[in-house]
Amino acid sequence: MPSKACSVALAGVGAYASSQAFVGPVASPQVGQQQQVRSLRKGGQAAAQDSSSSSTSAVGVLALGATGAFAAAAQVSQRGQRRAQVVRQATAVAEKVFTKMPASVKPGVVTGQALVDLLNYAKENEFAIPGVNIVGTNSINACLEAAKIAGGPVMVTFSKGGGQFIAGKAADNTNDAACVAGTVAGALHVRAVAKLSGVPVILHTDHCQKAWLPWIDALLEASEDYFAKNGEPLFSSHMLDLSEEPLEENIAICKKYLTRMAKINLLLEMELGVTGGEEDGVDTSNVDSSRLYTQPEEVWQTYQELASVPNGNFTVAAAFGNVHGVYAPGNVTLKPEILHSTQKFIKEKLGCKSDKPVSFVFHGGSGSSHEDIHYAIKAGVIKMNLDTYTQWAFWDGVNQYTKKNEPYLQTQMGNPEGPTKPNKKYYDPRVSVRSGEQSMAARLAQAMKDLNCTDRL
Ligand SMILES: [Zn+2]
Repeated sequence: MPSKACSVALAGVGAYASSQAFVGPVASPQVGQQQQVRSLRKGGQAAAQDSSSSSTSAVGVLALGATGAFAAAAQVSQRGQRRAQVVRQATAVAEKVFTKMPASVKPGVVTGQALVDLLNYAKENEFAIPGVNIVGTNSINACLEAAKIAGGPVMVTFSKGGGQFIAGKAADNTNDAACVAGTVAGALHVRAVAKLSGVPVILHTDHCQKAWLPWIDALLEASEDYFAKNGEPLFSSHMLDLSEEPLEENIAICKKYLTRMAKINLLLEMELGVTGGEEDGVDTSNVDSSRLYTQPEEVWQTYQELASVPNGNFTVAAAFGNVHGVYAPGNVTLKPEILHSTQKFIKEKLGCKSDKPVSFVFHGGSGSSHEDIHYAIKAGVIKMNLDTYTQWAFWDGVNQYTKKNEPYLQTQMGNPEGPTKPNKKYYDPRVSVRSGEQSMAARLAQAMKDLNCTDRL
């Protein structure tokens, strides 16, 4: 590509079982069995509930007296069958089964082993999942709409600033209270609506530098609480970006966090090297340019440490000249071949069969050429972050709407059809904001095509 500013982060490996993750990308039979057992258990619980409600009905039947009991029992049986049918239909909607996805991946928020299976499936089939920065329910809904249009999974990504925006810019943000509350609220919104779109959704948070760790600490508490009640974390994964710290410290902090996260099946994305440019108020444009390119040795050093964490699943965002934002050509030189050489290096170190032992993520992909994107996906990129273009698409949708309907948007009453004609249906925010959603969804669905992330369910 002609030297556009694009940023790529390599999402490193999901090392849920260090030897296994790299050699066999699909869930082990043992894991499959565990999942079967879990669904059988769930089925068992449902059956137990059913039988308890039937026994309540049976008590009612007996109360009618022996003579009417037989006919009444027949009626109850018919009602029971109808009810069972209704339950089956409802369940069919809620438990829609994908035909192409690994069996563990279901519509709605994906966590734990299902997330590892999903990422491995993406790597095997050479597509990348879009990681989209959102700022509220409108952009969340646009993500879900795009995934439904494209027929692929999507990653809803909260930045710290995006979380604060969801809480409301006027909310008290002492000790990051609003950043935390808004991120949790956004996650709960996704959990409430995701299944209705019938797509797998990854709940993720974006760059967290050292000074922001209290934000992640609070989100981990929220996930630990959620795990205690629901058996899975609230979020699917978090990114820690300690790339501005010395490598040893970066790895040590990540290892400490991964140890805590692994206990509740959360996946860690960490960064090596520096993604250039500016995002969410963090400006790295003055960073030494050599740091924009991660060395394979750094990935290997990181891998060894993080893979030693029991149940630790992690990805590595490595830099290969990527930059947040869109810039004029000539400012950035992307080197996706770094991804390929890193895979080769790690493969030799591990002595594994897989040519792509590492799962990479691509940050700041806005502005990248199709060639670079596909070359990066071939090297094991399983997620690409999107922000700049989807921001523009949302705005453009609103802008086009206001341009098209300008004469109806100047006063509450009065338009070309008459001086007393009301304009309420034009200035209802649901109309202009909906145009933004539709525009963002369409742009994102297009991006999913570029990522080979269509027709994957
Ligand atoms: Zn990024």
